[in-house]
Amino acid sequence: MGYTPIPAPAVAAAAPSGVNARSSGGRVSSSGLVITRFAPAPTGFLHLGHVVNALHVWQAAHDRDGRVLLRIEDHDRQRSRPEYEAAILEDLAWLGFQPDGPAVRQSERDAVYRKALQPLIDRELVYGCSCTRAELAAGVGTPDPGAGVRHPGSELRYPNTCRDRDLPLGDGVGWRLRIELGTESFFDEILGPQVQDPSAQCGDLLLRDRLGNWTYQFAVTVDDHLQAITDVIRGVDLLASTGRQIRLARLLGRTAMPRFAHHGLVMKSATDKLSKADGDTGVRDLRAAGWSAEAVLDLARRSVTLPL
Ligand code: GLU
Repeated sequence: MGYTPIPAPAVAAAAPSGVNARSSGGRVSSSGLVITRFAPAPTGFLHLGHVVNALHVWQAAHDRDGRVLLRIEDHDRQRSRPEYEAAILEDLAWLGFQPDGPAVRQSERDAVYRKALQPLIDRELVYGCSCTRAELAAGVGTPDPGAGVRHPGSELRYPNTCRDRDLPLGDGVGWRLRIELGTESFFDEILGPQVQDPSAQCGDLLLRDRLGNWTYQFAVTVDDHLQAITDVIRGVDLLASTGRQIRLARLLGRTAMPRFAHHGLVMKSATDKLSKADGDTGVRDLRAAGWSAEAVLDLARRSVTLPL
């Protein structure tokens, strides 16, 4: 299935058509209510890639009379900054994107994540890992064999080094989840059927890092579950995460999986996506240069490219 370019809108913050209404075959919330989310990490300013994502998210909610929850993914306490969060909220409002309800902050949910994790600890599925990032980078890495489409970059597979070392869970060690080989299948609303093998892709999943930060994979999966998100809509750079999030969600007790849609990215070249770390095309800069909100939304609609 191809990607449908985003058409021009009639009103601000409306109109992408990349997300269609087809069912993934997964079951959604019994009430039938569509709940999706916009989930920026406050590690930089809002850029055009976020705007493309916001267009998709709000349109999907709008089309099906659903709700958009705003989640600030500030699980990485070293890289997240309150000033980025404030700027993101301000730019979103300026663009006309209004969430349903107040923002939820991952940095305030430590107790929630601990509670969600406890049953997995009780089942002895979680173990301590003392490997450093540098050690892992120097070790054996395997390219990702599992993704249904080629996506930018490949990742290092954690070779499960500490699996049987019985290191206690505590501060100063990573916390990892045992996952076994085996595939997860899902229907992507834009890309079609996908098959991924989380263990082959990334090895045992890091849930909490050595600095005590909950990881993106864990926090996002717990939050999507507890917030009863029915539609996860995000860029194709996160496609390879979906199988492991499905696996984790099931272990956390989720029975009805959300629908997933992975849309194209705004690319700076044929192989490089925009990155807030590089300060690419920030909404702030466009505002400062006198762009209107409608012009920025239009630029986002025109910039989006096919998934690599
Ligand atoms: N927090 C992620 C980001 O800013 C998005 C996570 C998601 O949509 O699953 O890229």
